[in-house]
Amino acid sequence: MKNTGIFENTIIYQPELTAFVREVVLPGSSNVQPKIDSRFCRFNLKYAHSPIHRWGIFAAEKIPARRRVIEYTGQKIDASEVRRRRFRHHLYIFQLTQNRAVDGAIGGSGAEFINHSCQPNLMTRIVGGRIFFVSNRQIESGEELTLDYNIVMNGTNLPCSCGTEKCRGIINQNKQR
Ligand SMILES: [Zn+2]
Repeated sequence: MKNTGIFENTIIYQPELTAFVREVVLPGSSNVQPKIDSRFCRFNLKYAHSPIHRWGIFAAEKIPARRRVIEYTGQKIDASEVRRRRFRHHLYIFQLTQNRAVDGAIGGSGAEFINHSCQPNLMTRIVGGRIFFVSNRQIESGEELTLDYNIVMNGTNLPCSCGTEKCRGIINQNKQR
């Protein structure tokens, strides 16, 4: 998988959508071990090796539906800074709007290690410019936390290994401009 191109013409950020671009994307070469900052968590979470991809974040207690689980934190950057950083080896960019993004590589809460799934148990809620990952159903203790990265990208397909019934086979989605 090439590490280039994701922020070039092939990727489309729709203003009403958010997207999480991680390690452009999941090349499997990262030795970074997750750290979870409990100040940004509402529930007990832990990291462990993931059947989806390397490290993942797991619930360490039962989490009811529709609760804020963890805040996605990091350095706030604009589109030109995203372009400057796009070739970095470890990239944890959460795109909020066309010109606003948060880089979890700097000051990340640990939410940047949450893996993609096509049938996730978390959803994104933006409140006052802050990014919260919210449970979309009850999550049992020991379950891996997952999120649909919501990357709209035509041209290159990123294979998905989430293993869910609804897996579309690729992490990104192809849509018409
Ligand atoms: Zn999948």
